[in-house]
Amino acid sequence: MATLDGLPPLREVIAEHGLDARKALGQNFLFDLNLTQKIARTAGPLEDVTVFEVGPGPGGLTRAILSLGAKKVIAVERDSRCLPVLADIERHYPGRLEVIEGDALKTDFEALAPEGPVRIIANLPYNVGTQLLINWLLPKTWPPFWQSMTLMFQKEVGQRIVADEEDDHYGRLGVLCGWRTDARMAFDVPPQAFSPPPKVTSTVVHLTPRETPLPCDVAKLERVTQAAFGQRRKMLRQSLKSVGGEALLVRAGIDPSRRAETLSVVEFVALANAL
Ligand code: SAM
Repeated sequence: MATLDGLPPLREVIAEHGLDARKALGQNFLFDLNLTQKIARTAGPLEDVTVFEVGPGPGGLTRAILSLGAKKVIAVERDSRCLPVLADIERHYPGRLEVIEGDALKTDFEALAPEGPVRIIANLPYNVGTQLLINWLLPKTWPPFWQSMTLMFQKEVGQRIVADEEDDHYGRLGVLCGWRTDARMAFDVPPQAFSPPPKVTSTVVHLTPRETPLPCDVAKLERVTQAAFGQRRKMLRQSLKSVGGEALLVRAGIDPSRRAETLSVVEFVALANAL
């Protein structure tokens, strides 16, 4: 059967290479090139852009990114079984795909960043997705080495990423993302779009960096959000006791009887700076 990019259909590729999906590696593959192109398009125009991808697997999303004209894809994949398949894609798009076999959590993406714009696009393995996002939010320098991140998560994680105050999903991740980025949910992807289907709906989140986030020491921001959301239903004078309690709140100009979930990102930054 013909495909949009002239490479064999992914189901055939997977059967030929015996790539049975492994749960321990968070493997839920996407086969529909229309859907993978929709994800890639969410990142914006890709000409002249180097894309970092984590977990290309059999290459569904990688193929979409390349077919949409990305200058280059640098992909980090932990499962060596995928390498021959990815080598076929590299031959189809000579010089435009570099595959690094390894653990994305241990990869220094900042050091890999070439001259020119970088965008991160990935259907992330769920077990390490949140940690990877946090790593990318905390590079050595800011503005970061990436222009945008277009990432697939479980929907519940996506809701936490974009949440702000008064939202049930608001928490430490929402504060961190809201401090440094503009984050929005692009669209949902139902379980049956994947093979094998996961138990829950997924969602694609698109994040762009704030040029000048409010100055703040991230370790202190983490301390106050951890304490505040650790007891999110309690008043802040109680939940923040371990980091300075009422005196800290007064210094930051925040009413001690409020609760964590009512504080804006700006107010959390004020608390961190008062610490
Ligand atoms: N991109 C493919 C797609 O959309 O069909 C596969 C996505 S699948 C959800 C996640 C991929 O991440 C798998 O190929 C898995 O082997 C890979 N992976 C899992 N943990 C990884 C890690 N720590 N570093 C790099 N890749 C990892």
